[in-house]
Amino acid sequence: MSQPHVLIVEDEPAQREVLGYNLEAEGFRTSRAEDGEQALVLVDEDPPDVIVLDWMLPNVSGIEVCRQLKMRPETRDVPIIMLSARSEEIDKVRGLETGADDYVVKPYSVSELMARVRSQLRRVRPSTVGQLLTYEDIVLDAETHRVSRADKALKLGPTEFRLLSTFMEKPGRVWSREQLLDRVWGRDIYVDTRTVDVHIGRLRKVLTSHGGPDPLRTVRGAGYALG
Ligand code: CA
Repeated sequence: MSQPHVLIVEDEPAQREVLGYNLEAEGFRTSRAEDGEQALVLVDEDPPDVIVLDWMLPNVSGIEVCRQLKMRPETRDVPIIMLSARSEEIDKVRGLETGADDYVVKPYSVSELMARVRSQLRRVRPSTVGQLLTYEDIVLDAETHRVSRADKALKLGPTEFRLLSTFMEKPGRVWSREQLLDRVWGRDIYVDTRTVDVHIGRLRKVLTSHGGPDPLRTVRGAGYALG
């Protein structure tokens, strides 16, 4: 199986380097373009699996590159993650109209961008990203049982790990305490539903131990959800 290939299009050398370095450290192959014209040539020469595309580029802008790639049948399905220093809503809308698949505002956290790249890859090449589940800056590796948030390793007990895996499989889904008991503790074990609350509390504590907002939501009368 070939390494997933990410094309980085960024005119600022330092940012291009940092991104390339981090992606390669995670096992991606990268190619790098410093402007839009070079990007369009590289896409044909060495088709990428995902493109990270800066908005503000000399000559041909990122928006124009995105528009052109999304018009051509052979490149239409390559996910594009657009980077921009401008956060105005209108820019987001324009970014989406050009067909960008995702959008990240500078300055971004490298770990969040990595998570977005993996998420796009999971869509187009599911086999290359193995058992990694990501939600925002949280990454869970089901094979090695490692969990990190914003690149910092988190130590979770086995129950908290299974709880988090359950949540990360379906972000946004509300799980009742009974459903969580079935999934995490198993049907045949008698555990009081309040036990769920205790472990959710522990999970929250670990997830926020290096800062960052609490990603778990208590839904009154219903249960818990991630995000
Ligand atoms: Ca730029």
